[in-house]
Amino acid sequence: MTTYREFHRRSIEDKEGFWAEQAKLVHWERPPVKVLDYRRPPFARWFVGGETNLCYNALDRHLGARGDQKALVYISTETGEEKSFSYRELHLEVQRAAAMMRSLGVGKGDRVVVYMPMIPEAAFVILACARIGAIHSVVFGGFAAASLAARIDDARPKLMVTADGGSRMGKVVTYKALVDESIRLAKHPPGKVVIFRRGLDPSMKTVARRDLDYAELRANHMNAQVPLTWLESNEPSYILYTSGTTGRPKGVQRDVGGYAVALAASMKHIYCGGAGETMFTTSDIGWVVGHSYIIYGPLIAGMTTVLYEGVPIRPDAGIWWKIVQDHKVNVMFSAPTAIRVLKKHDPAFLRKYDLGSLKHLFLAGEPLDEPTHAWIAEALGKPVIDHYWQTETGWAILSSVPGVEKTPIKLGSPSFPAYGYDLKLLREADAAEAATGEKAVVAIAPPLPPGCMSTVWGDDERFVKTYFGTFRNKQVYSTFDWGIRDADGYYFILGRTDDVINVAGHRLGTREIEEAVNMHSNIAECAVVGVADSLKGQMPLAFAVAKDATRLNSAEGRKALEREVMETVDKQLGAIGRPKAIHFVTLLPKTRSGKTLRRSIQALAEGRDPGDLTTIEDPAALEQIRNALST
Ligand code: AMP
Repeated sequence: MTTYREFHRRSIEDKEGFWAEQAKLVHWERPPVKVLDYRRPPFARWFVGGETNLCYNALDRHLGARGDQKALVYISTETGEEKSFSYRELHLEVQRAAAMMRSLGVGKGDRVVVYMPMIPEAAFVILACARIGAIHSVVFGGFAAASLAARIDDARPKLMVTADGGSRMGKVVTYKALVDESIRLAKHPPGKVVIFRRGLDPSMKTVARRDLDYAELRANHMNAQVPLTWLESNEPSYILYTSGTTGRPKGVQRDVGGYAVALAASMKHIYCGGAGETMFTTSDIGWVVGHSYIIYGPLIAGMTTVLYEGVPIRPDAGIWWKIVQDHKVNVMFSAPTAIRVLKKHDPAFLRKYDLGSLKHLFLAGEPLDEPTHAWIAEALGKPVIDHYWQTETGWAILSSVPGVEKTPIKLGSPSFPAYGYDLKLLREADAAEAATGEKAVVAIAPPLPPGCMSTVWGDDERFVKTYFGTFRNKQVYSTFDWGIRDADGYYFILGRTDDVINVAGHRLGTREIEEAVNMHSNIAECAVVGVADSLKGQMPLAFAVAKDATRLNSAEGRKALEREVMETVDKQLGAIGRPKAIHFVTLLPKTRSGKTLRRSIQALAEGRDPGDLTTIEDPAALEQIRNALST
């Protein structure tokens, strides 16, 4: 049996040999002529000349052996619906959706923005895009109209697909109304909008000639057979926007062949999910985890995937475990915040159900604290594997790899570098490799392995500058995370090196939130920092300077302005970006060159020492932060 150490070593020392072997896990209509083309660093092109299709690998390939097996199980505790689709049925629905898009003029390379709740039609549309070579860009439903408009303007879609509404904790979220507002704000709106009506928003309005009904279009294509568009491995499959340190979100562009191979390999080596088994990933299709492990990964592996619309505690905190029991879930994937929510409930909810089918639970998206890790591992009685990755990489950077070797788990650690990743811990000052136990920047020596982003959509220069520009004399990919490695080689992630915060597993740029706060007409400027939160990991906290301070003289005036600013953030960015509180000050702590001292503000907010203040312009500003925090 191969030890993991040997497996990883080979993936780095013999990249082409290693990945050529993994590439056999997927179907190639035309085999690659070269495994890796790295003539233009840091751009890596994998499986050059090979032609494949993600939809073929996810669906068509399985029709012979498992056409009647369930491919997708949809469960909504919001609407009470439960439906399942066999591979054959899913294949039919995807062809109908593909035919519908083609009838609207969507073809290879065209962008389709998907702004949909967790319903099967979202999966149909995503897979249909893959089938016809259109590039999907799924936007998380929690983002507000202005954020959606920014993504529309960057992707310039030909088509948008949405639903009248979604539901969260029984409350309707009007998706279509938000789409209308975003289209009003966008400079490059799509020509057509397809709406799936769930009957959740009876007052939904439509725009003649632009808006079309999903069910009506589908009815025209019931027997559609849409041929596959074979794509060269390096053509784009999708764009997924993510927050960075600037207000402008980055479009992470993914390829086709490298992604298919990376996912197929991860299903085998990391998740140990085999054909005929069931995977339940509790994320949302709007996040990378949803792309990789609700939609593509499990289907490529011939598994049944569970698409769940709802929260983990409704109707009660046993719902997930009931799903595991009823659908014989073998592999589960969730996020630490959800486990922290469950931890507040009686562990009896876990014991009520038969979890015999479950092999392991994977967690990712944010740091997993030791007590939560210990609690869930004990409650489940199964291995709980923390693994670490990013939207940019599309699959795990650090993980235990039980399909190769069952290495012991250390609480609080996502274990070791996944195969394919030449991971480095580099000192911030001189890019030298850090010693054991020394905190340093987590970096990846290029080329990035298959499945990772190819570039920033439409902006190669931004890709190189942003990700490979951290160290002056070394072209390495920065994850913008701090980490350390212990004497046994286990890694620990210690938070971000940049101004990005992680709220309940969702990455948000503090700059983005600041821009949203500043949209309120009475705010002159502000600083937003992330502060530790026992449930969500981190929460944004804002310090703002009002233009007209007269309203701040009374407690009511202050509260009213705080509420208004929060509403502005909800409207601009979405409720996920709403600060925990807004403190009003008359000036912000800045350096003499005008840079806001966010790290010092954050330290004070978390009750730590503010650090080096030699460059501060006016120490009174920090005093104001202190006072604001103590009131
Ligand atoms: P996103 O691209 O939104 O998934 O966010 C990726 C970021 O989330 C990483 O850069 C980390 O800061 C954080 N993250 C993801 N997984 C983990 C993990 N297992 N442990 C610690 N931090 C994590």
